[in-house]
Amino acid sequence: MPRLRIALGVAAASLLSASLLTAIPAAAQAAPSADVTTAVTEKLLQQVSANPTLRTAGKSDTRVSVTRHAGQRWAFGTAVVIAPHQEDAYPAGWLFVARAQERGWRIAFDSEPAFSDLAAAAPEGVVSEREKQVFTAVTPMYANGDYRTGMRLPYGIGQSWYLTGGPHGWGGSDTPWSSIDLSGGDQRVLAARGGTAYTMCRGWIRVIHDRGYATDYYHLWNSISVNGAGVGEGAYLGDTGTDVTCGGAASGRHVHFALRQNNAYVPMHGHNFGKWVIIPGGSTYQGYALHGSAQVNVGGALYNYGTLGFTQGVVDTNGGTTLNKRSGPGTGYAIAGSVADGATVNITCSANGTTHSGRWGTTALWNKLTDGTWVSDAYLWTGVTGTVNGYC
Ligand SMILES: [Zn+2]
Repeated sequence: MPRLRIALGVAAASLLSASLLTAIPAAAQAAPSADVTTAVTEKLLQQVSANPTLRTAGKSDTRVSVTRHAGQRWAFGTAVVIAPHQEDAYPAGWLFVARAQERGWRIAFDSEPAFSDLAAAAPEGVVSEREKQVFTAVTPMYANGDYRTGMRLPYGIGQSWYLTGGPHGWGGSDTPWSSIDLSGGDQRVLAARGGTAYTMCRGWIRVIHDRGYATDYYHLWNSISVNGAGVGEGAYLGDTGTDVTCGGAASGRHVHFALRQNNAYVPMHGHNFGKWVIIPGGSTYQGYALHGSAQVNVGGALYNYGTLGFTQGVVDTNGGTTLNKRSGPGTGYAIAGSVADGATVNITCSANGTTHSGRWGTTALWNKLTDGTWVSDAYLWTGVTGTVNGYC
């Protein structure tokens, strides 16, 4: 797959991150003997006052849950700013680690660089080994143009659910457009990929995956109650619903499904779930999904094909029906069969050959498949601009 031309809606995300990186005034930190909940709440309120995009229901409307602690020395939990119960509003939430120091609690939210260091230093009973590995697995892959998620759509493989809302912000109209809305099938919301799961709020689950990714699921009925539990791909998280315990509004049952990377919401644009590439429209809640040349617009149903592997591609003939396979990396080689638009291929390695242009751009790269035949990279969606399994 050649170059992706994707407008990254990172401006607002950067703004959010920047505001969260500001140092905490020492005066705002509580004494070590003070309740850690009070200290975390104070920090939450600082986030609110520093960031006008966090639309809170009220100054005191926060929810801090200390889920684990080691005496008065360490604490771990979730910190959530409740949103008003209105359209275009969603809660903001963080995991936190707190350590008692001479001058008060040192608190790091998961959006801050100090978080992984503090988590690494915490005792096992406060932050598990699994979590320490997850919290330090921050990667720059997204910035390098690697859009592979290894994720399915967040429901049963083989089911078709409606794309009831195209890319929009976690808070609706805000950026980046990290979220889509899905509803249908058996209404059972499942983890898009394995990871470590947290109940941020009733109705709101966050799963932190590998490679710096995380996914959020909101408005769930019967949401599971988890606190750092390992979950496999396809694990039940809850049912689609209209739960707004932590704010916002939901007019009909659905899951508000959002993508995060490196502890911030990132655009869904160009990422793949269940072998569908998500493409935004001209405004929020519009857009479509592509599986090969098959396009499903908002309101249509997405068949969940399951996960696209990191060394796999989806054949995209840009409107055709089949793609010729060749005995070598170029059209000068003999035809060695064909593969249908939308089919999944397994890539062994790549080499340069004849140049071709497809939906995603122009490239000379060819991929050798596991059956020994070759196809042009111009007609595959792999999620990567270059090779996915190295050169032959
Ligand atoms: Zn939504």
